[in-house]
This record gives sequence, C-alpha cells and structure tokens, in this order.
Amino acid sequence: MTSLRLLSLFLLALVLGAPDAHARSLRPPIVWLKGEGNFTKAHRGPQSIDRIVVHVTEGAFWGSVRWLKSPRAHASSHYVVSRRGKVVQLVHLSDVAWHAGNWNVNVRSIGIEHEGFTYGRAGFTAAQYRNSARLTAWIARRSLMPIDRAHIIGHHEVPGPRGGRGGASHHTDPGRRWNWNRYLALVRSYAIRGWEKLSVSTRLPSGPLRGVVTWRAPTTGGVRSVEFAVDERVAWTDRQAPFTFRGGRGLNTTRLRNGTHVFELRAYGDGTRHDITRWMVVVSNAEFTLTSAGARPWTRVRGTVRLRARPAGAKADRVLFAVDGRRVALD
Ligand SMILES: [Zn+2]
Repeated sequence: MTSLRLLSLFLLALVLGAPDAHARSLRPPIVWLKGEGNFTKAHRGPQSIDRIVVHVTEGAFWGSVRWLKSPRAHASSHYVVSRRGKVVQLVHLSDVAWHAGNWNVNVRSIGIEHEGFTYGRAGFTAAQYRNSARLTAWIARRSLMPIDRAHIIGHHEVPGPRGGRGGASHHTDPGRRWNWNRYLALVRSYAIRGWEKLSVSTRLPSGPLRGVVTWRAPTTGGVRSVEFAVDERVAWTDRQAPFTFRGGRGLNTTRLRNGTHVFELRAYGDGTRHDITRWMVVVSNAEFTLTSAGARPWTRVRGTVRLRARPAGAKADRVLFAVDGRRVALD
C-alpha cells in the first residue's frame, strides 16, 4: 500500500515536473547580482504577480546595474537587459522591487529595465527584444498571466499615487521607440514554444533504401539543431529549420553495406531540452559491378583500342584503367 502510494506520488511528480522543465529552459541565461537594502523582502508566490513593467535605464548597462544594486539608489528592478541581450537579476521574484513609483503596482509586479534612452535615437536591439521577451514569456507562464497590454505595461502607464501617470515621478519610459507589437508577438511565440513538446520525427522513403535518398527531420517545440546519425556516428548536423540531411542533397546509401543499419535523429532545443528517435533501416543496393567493352579476355589488339567501362548498381566516382598493373588512365 505504502509503496503503491509512493509510486503514484512519484509518477505525479514526474507529470508535474515535465512542463516545468520546459518552462525553465524558456528563460534566457541569467547572471545574479543581488542588491541589498533597496527592495522589500516578501514571500510573493507566482500567482500573486499579474503585471510586468517595462523600463528603460537612461544610461549604460553596467553603470545602471551598479546603481540599481546600491542602497543609495532607493530604486531597484528585478532584471536589467543589456543591448547585447545579457540579463542580470538583482531582486528575487518573490521580493518587491522598487521600480514602478507606485506601491500597489510594485507589490504585484516584476520590473524589467532595458539598457537605452527613452528619447534616444538608437532604440532597442533585436537581442534585447528577444531575451526580454523570453523572460517575460517565462514569468507570464509561471504566474498564469495573460499576455496582453493590460498585463505587460510600460512605466508610463503606471498610475501615479497622487494622479497622473508614470508612477510618483511621472516617468515616460519606455517611450515611442519601444515597439510593443514586436515585443508582444515575441512574448507570445516564446510562450507557445515553451508549451509545445520538443519532438523530432523522420521522413524517409518507405521500404528498403537504395541509391541516394532524401532524409528530412520535421520537428516541433523550438528545436535549434538536429544531428543525423547512422550506426551511432553523426553523419550530418543541421542548425537551420527545415532540418534535412546535407541540406537536401540526400544520403548516399551505396556508401553503406547492404543489410540492417540503425538510423538516429537527435534534436536539441534550449538548455537541456532534447528528443531522440531511433529506428532500423534496411539498405539494399544492387552489388557494385563493372563490365567492360572494347576488349575481351584474350582478344588480340593492335593500334588504338577503345575501352569502355560500365559500372552498375551504384554511381561510380572514378574508373581507373591499368595495363599490367600500371595505371594508364583515370576517368
Ligand atoms: Zn521606469
């Protein structure tokens, strides 16, 4: 009875654990630089968070990180995302960062700062949008928060405690250069990808294989690269979807001996996400044979002799002509 209960608990843990593993890999790499004295310790659970506030640092990355980490700032943020997409975390998600200039918003939100200037010409980089969107997708899923502009807001949309917008100091970040449509589309695509199970399957001609065959590997769930292995050896790696062996040029089965082989596809996503599929194939090529024309055994020849070689069963790379064991021509 006890062991049965333990087993069912274990199975339940496995079931509960699976989507979480995907969620964790959705998150971009994060460097922890914990601040001190400029946030409020709390025990917020994921579901008590229902807002993500987008900010702009108005300064260079490391200077902003140092400032937001120091107690003199009287301000902080959970994350800072650099123009190169680097993500630094300063405050635990369960703690309240002082970022919105409105206590009621601070207690229920996560603040993400982006290196840049609200009124600068440079705008924001693709790497910055990408990793910030991954972060937001991960937080939104973790908190079961809808991905829309009511929940993912700019600092300028935070009500001021005594009226107006942009919190107590009426901040205007992230400003006009921040592309909300682009950002939300990215957040949605990352959130969906995180849900979808990572998988790889195979497309090969059915029946025994002969000659050159096209080998495709359809995938789901944000696969980054696929390894094509034959008999345990990686024969090709594709890092660009749609994943195909040798970019569609196919696998030359005449290079394999006739008989049974093990084909394998290994698909890798972010972090440790992966899927492997393995199966047996039969290769059945006609034996490689060579017939010649122009001279038969014991034919008497004189003057110029036309020799022709006809390979069968497979495509020949080259044909070597030899007389008395010495090479006379290579075609
Ligand atoms: Zn701000």
